Amino acid sequence: MCGIVGYIGKKDVRNLLLEGLKRLEYRGYDSSGLVVFSPTGFNVIKRIGRVAKLVEATSKNSAKGTLGISHTRWATHGGVTESNTHPHVSSDGKIAMVHNGVIENYVEMKKFLEIKGFSFSSETDSEALSNLIAYHYAKEKEDGEDTSRFFTAVRKALSHVEGTYGIAVTCVDYPDELIGARKGSPLILGVGKGEYILASDESAIITHTSNVVYLDDNEMVSMSRDGFRVVSAADEGIDPVINTIDWNIEDSEKGKFEHYMLKEIFEQPAALENAMRGRFSDDGSTAIFGGLNLTPRELRQIDRLLFTSCGTAWHSCLVAEYLIERYARIPVEVEYASELRYRNAPLDKNTLVFVVTQSGETIDTLGALREAQRRGYRTLAITNGVGSTIAREADGGIYQHAGPEVGVASTKAFTSQLLIVAMLALYLGRLRDMSYTDGAEMVKALRSVPNLVRETLKQDQHIKAIAAKYAGYADFLFLGRQAMFPIALEGALKLKEISYIHAEGYPAAEMKHGPIALICEECPSVFIATGGEIFQKVLSNIQEVKARKGKVILIHSKSCEVPDGLVDDTIIIPDAADSVMPILATVPLQLLSYYIAVERGCDVDKPRNLAKSVTVE
Ligand code: GLU
Repeated sequence: MCGIVGYIGKKDVRNLLLEGLKRLEYRGYDSSGLVVFSPTGFNVIKRIGRVAKLVEATSKNSAKGTLGISHTRWATHGGVTESNTHPHVSSDGKIAMVHNGVIENYVEMKKFLEIKGFSFSSETDSEALSNLIAYHYAKEKEDGEDTSRFFTAVRKALSHVEGTYGIAVTCVDYPDELIGARKGSPLILGVGKGEYILASDESAIITHTSNVVYLDDNEMVSMSRDGFRVVSAADEGIDPVINTIDWNIEDSEKGKFEHYMLKEIFEQPAALENAMRGRFSDDGSTAIFGGLNLTPRELRQIDRLLFTSCGTAWHSCLVAEYLIERYARIPVEVEYASELRYRNAPLDKNTLVFVVTQSGETIDTLGALREAQRRGYRTLAITNGVGSTIAREADGGIYQHAGPEVGVASTKAFTSQLLIVAMLALYLGRLRDMSYTDGAEMVKALRSVPNLVRETLKQDQHIKAIAAKYAGYADFLFLGRQAMFPIALEGALKLKEISYIHAEGYPAAEMKHGPIALICEECPSVFIATGGEIFQKVLSNIQEVKARKGKVILIHSKSCEVPDGLVDDTIIIPDAADSVMPILATVPLQLLSYYIAVERGCDVDKPRNLAKSVTVE
């Protein structure tokens, strides 16, 4: 959450920061601000609302400079006001700082600093840290310290922080130095020629350079126009590894689409191809994964899998449970990462822990990963975030290669996770009892997915028309059984996220144990039924809804026979193997919620209160 962009170099910093903030806006968009370090000192501009407001305000300001920091906020402490907007300048005017994360001990810090004569103009936790840096800075001076006074002050202040931070800091006496540091919140350094960019994610860096250093927790970086150095919290120099970003800027642009979400829905065939590329055995009977760092022998000794995650990715874990238990016969447990972390759950000693996260930075998932590692469990990550904190800290894993996902509501990253867990079910199944023939058949089914999704996407306009019909309703139920139950949950979540309609997902048969009380003409139900032995049962559940005058939209596969006149609207998806049905059934749900949200005039790519990549607890 929140986007940070800092720059030191030779270019005009103002436009560069604004450009970066626009690219990071999907991480937080309550308010935004920047500091340009001009020859007259700090030039601070802040605005509530979208980055466009800041752009407008900045155009009236003539400050020029080649060093600056900026931020787009996702408020945790203190309302959305101009004074709470970052950057925060210390009350003595020496330090300007932007912060992502939560300073948990900010109340004590504030009390201490007030006694020392510092004052506060915001309600944020972050301002305490900028003042604390200023306090140490002043103290270093009294102690008669040298030219690294600014750096030392930041390091000392950070040693008192409990909580998480990604920060970019400047000091009014140091026009040639920019400092960054992180613990728990992402921060990446873009390495250019005589210029450096500090940012929360690669999208703000990629237009300038593809060479990046992923900072680790407890690391600090100091940049000048002549170079940079990375040091540990203990002030030891660290040899930075310079990585290359493997995507380009066009991948993260909207192109001809009205919204990123729609673009990303239509990118799914390509994202699915990428998830499979090079990941099937030569004999075409199993999947292969290069980065698990576990031998088949080690994997055979696993008795149980634990999948943990948050939000949409958590739904892919539920699908993993259905698929892996069915095809590999390994018991799978699924936990919310935020719960697992503090629940102290007893885990079987031969448990392998999977974390699933689009960004690889989700703080709850990172916390669960670290907790599992602390307890000695082997951890693997399924993530789209190459070089992300979770990718680096897990013992191994599988990259999704879905390309950048900018729309806050996850679409292509989710279906790519569904494909990867299906491939995992195949791989683990083939290590156990799945035959060559069954394996080969499953490979064939998985390979067909991109085309089947292409076919499903052709229903776009039909779904748009259905959306127009239903956009006015205030409540929805999403119902499905077995592997379609998590898909029902995802359908409900998508609708909630982007159209602010109340929606609930349930196993279709559970409906009669409670949610059926909601059924009336005003509460439509979206059923997902993809054939198989329980199709007739789902039809009975639909009858129960119809008997209570509920409207029904049914998503079903082509060969399912639906009695005439039973449902109000249908969306037909292609016939396919059970292993890939969750993917196919997801696509119409994405389009349905997208078009309903558009119909209601909602800001699809930046839904209220939400942000991509949740890096605070
Ligand atoms: N905790 C800080 C605030 O509420 C930072 C929030 C963010 O990461 O955007 O201002």
